[in-house]
Amino acid sequence: MSATLIDGKRIAEHFRERYKLQTAKLAAAGVVPGLAVVIVGDDPASQVYVRNKARACESIGIRSQVHALPSSISQAELIAFVQKLNADAEVHGILVQLPLPGHLDDRAVIESIALDKDVDGFHYANMGRLVIDESPFPPCTPYGVMQMLRHEGISVDGKHAVIIGRSNIVGKPQAMLMLKEGATVTICHSRTQGLAEHCRRADILVAAVGRANFVRGDWVKPGAVVIDVGINRLGDGTLCGDVHFAEASQVASAITPVPGGVGPMTIAMLLGNTLRAAARVRGLSIDEAGVA
Ligand code: NAD
Repeated sequence: MSATLIDGKRIAEHFRERYKLQTAKLAAAGVVPGLAVVIVGDDPASQVYVRNKARACESIGIRSQVHALPSSISQAELIAFVQKLNADAEVHGILVQLPLPGHLDDRAVIESIALDKDVDGFHYANMGRLVIDESPFPPCTPYGVMQMLRHEGISVDGKHAVIIGRSNIVGKPQAMLMLKEGATVTICHSRTQGLAEHCRRADILVAAVGRANFVRGDWVKPGAVVIDVGINRLGDGTLCGDVHFAEASQVASAITPVPGGVGPMTIAMLLGNTLRAAARVRGLSIDEAGVA
């Protein structure tokens, strides 16, 4: 392997340490940040994600509540539940674990979350802010990618970023964040023709597809930075990304592993967004320097 490994676990730890201090400062100012996570049904992967998020909160002093609701819940009941959380002063952030069971409308439920508690940043208004200006709650996975690059001293300004995937939670907000920082952005997706050719033109290649080992080494321009967002479970139970790591790491200048790359950053950014939501209640702000 010739590429530098971008160690998301280590970088996320750096953010968590910082957030721990900020949580303590907020608590001293009388605000104990609180996150409510709502999970509907019994999807095992979602349950693992939710448990990890709750644990991460507790590890830095954020109060977390997990609400496990039955898959038989109706749309109206779920929205009423979210509205109760909207009105709860101890809850600063609300996250509804997606995807919801088929009879529920993900979008309608997200739209029922109070704008200033939308710590996933998926509400139409916060997505709109992200496109036009700046969202108070940038979506955690793409924001985690940006913070990881910044932490490693990798500028996107003037670079060509190619993003594979156009989902609302990763691909599209990733493109907006890259654009804002001065990248020229190409978004590829399932209908893209000549995908490998597009990828070979990338200075920064972000894969968010959901297909194991999909991006091959000869799709990577020598010296490119490769960010692997994908999380795929193989038949033997192990996890792997969307990028063929063994091949791509021979060509790239820097690359994220799976696991231990983007995943830990996503959770760290959720903590940051929750702190920001709590700080805003008191007219405070959380920034690089701390609580102000
Ligand atoms: P999604 O299914 O909503 O979107 C996948 C995207 O890939 C689509 O836009 C589709 O057009 C594109 N695509 C599918 N097949 C393609 C092909 N053959 N060629 C080119 N593009 C193709 O998925 P998502 O929610 O954006 O997640 C993508 C991956 O990232 C998944 O593996 C998911 O588990 C992972 N993920 C990881 C984190 C994290 O914290 N690391 C967070 C969110 C998602």
